[in-house]
Amino acid sequence: MDKKQELIFCPSPGIGHLISTVELAKKLITGHNNHFHVTILNIQHHVSAWSNATTSYINSISTSGLDIHFQDVPQVDPPYKENMKGETFICLFIEAHKAHVHEAISHHLATTSVAALILDILCVSMLDVAKDLNLPCYIYIPSNATFLGLMLYLPTLDAKVLSEIEDVKDVIDIPVLRSAPPLSMPGFMMDKKDECYTIFYNYGYKLREARGFIVNTFKNLEMKSLKALETGQCLPDQPTPAVFTVGPLLASEKKEKDEKKHECIKWLDEQPKKSVVFLCFGSMGCFDKEMVKEIALGLEKSEQRFLWALRTPSKENALIPSDADLGEVLPEGFLERTREKGLVWPSWVPQLSVLAHTAVAGFVTHCGWNSVLESLWYGVPMLAWPLYAEQHMNAVMVVREMGVGLELKVDRKNGGFVSSEELESGIRSLMEGEEGRKVRQRAEEMKVAGRRAGEEGGSSYASLELLLHDIIKDASTGSIG
Ligand code: UDP
Repeated sequence: MDKKQELIFCPSPGIGHLISTVELAKKLITGHNNHFHVTILNIQHHVSAWSNATTSYINSISTSGLDIHFQDVPQVDPPYKENMKGETFICLFIEAHKAHVHEAISHHLATTSVAALILDILCVSMLDVAKDLNLPCYIYIPSNATFLGLMLYLPTLDAKVLSEIEDVKDVIDIPVLRSAPPLSMPGFMMDKKDECYTIFYNYGYKLREARGFIVNTFKNLEMKSLKALETGQCLPDQPTPAVFTVGPLLASEKKEKDEKKHECIKWLDEQPKKSVVFLCFGSMGCFDKEMVKEIALGLEKSEQRFLWALRTPSKENALIPSDADLGEVLPEGFLERTREKGLVWPSWVPQLSVLAHTAVAGFVTHCGWNSVLESLWYGVPMLAWPLYAEQHMNAVMVVREMGVGLELKVDRKNGGFVSSEELESGIRSLMEGEEGRKVRQRAEEMKVAGRRAGEEGGSSYASLELLLHDIIKDASTGSIG
């Protein structure tokens, strides 16, 4: 075939998912002799703090010369209901764009050869569009294979566990994660009467209609979960669609290196090698004054050098972080007392560059999947402080399954509280203890394995080839996803 075919992506709104989607798109357009070009449908978020970040990122990709094009989906009114969970909001918001997405793809089909539709896992409702338009459809999971396995198994688990998850006395057994603590399950599973549970339960069913799953992970990192998926344990009643592991997909390092040195990096340049613990909690992580105080006390008592990216709830919406007013939230005298040892940065930090820095020896993280992959890319061991979404499950994986991080006791029933004593001892163990030495060594091993996976001959490289073949084969036979 000499004419390029089109791949249409539909990521969920939010910078994290968008960046990950673009990284996947880059791989797909450069593979197979540039067989594809890409259109990314942009569902526009109504929160300006988010849409601003997205807009500047889209501009940078659009002007980069890559064969990746963005198309805005017309805006719809956000579906507000009282006490609505964040996950419910985002799923209903995406679903409300169905007719517009259908129309946009129909236009493409009238003028170009569309090889496949690739949906973010939160856009599962758009599988109906693919079905209606006879398009092969893949689901991209910017999270891990364990999360995919949980989602596929959810309807089965629901039939097995009749009580609320948090009332389970013992452990939860899912094929991808045996003997999981009940409180390590994602927030959307915690109240079966809530609309959020029903949405994800239905997604568990709907996912089965996909032609295949593309996961931002690599084989050596999630051997057991991938085996469980491969052997059909997560979907006992029907064959599991193909799973393609193409990770780790990370925002490109080059962009980070080119930018002018950030204050945090300049500060790190002054610190001894492998001496600093870095604290950062993703795009949504923020803490109230009480928690900030505990963290400050814990850090001070740990006597380690630290770089702390601190954001606090914004005044308009407590769920959305804004830059911290350090004078207002930090305990009196903290900055003076720790001047020689630490830097508190009250805003967004260039996380990838920080993790790449030779001064950084440990990462206190909320265990968002991108953060976990980025930490491992540079062989930095973690102290797991999960906050929301599937992060509690990621924390179990980081600590117990992958052995690349240490556990922090997070009181999930008490708003995710961590005491200063717990943080102090966790940081000390990570930076100085025998346990820390072990997870550091394991993180180093995963660094090597992750880099190897993406190279020619590596598992993710091979899986990407299989995916490209699968798309081309499917497009040429015209079968439905
Ligand atoms: N990030 C960053 N600076 C910050 C906070 C986050 O660069 O101050 C980046 C981080 O490197 C990662 C992404 O934002 O690429 C967060 O993604 P993740 O999946 O870890 O967490 P989420 O934001 O989805 O909870």
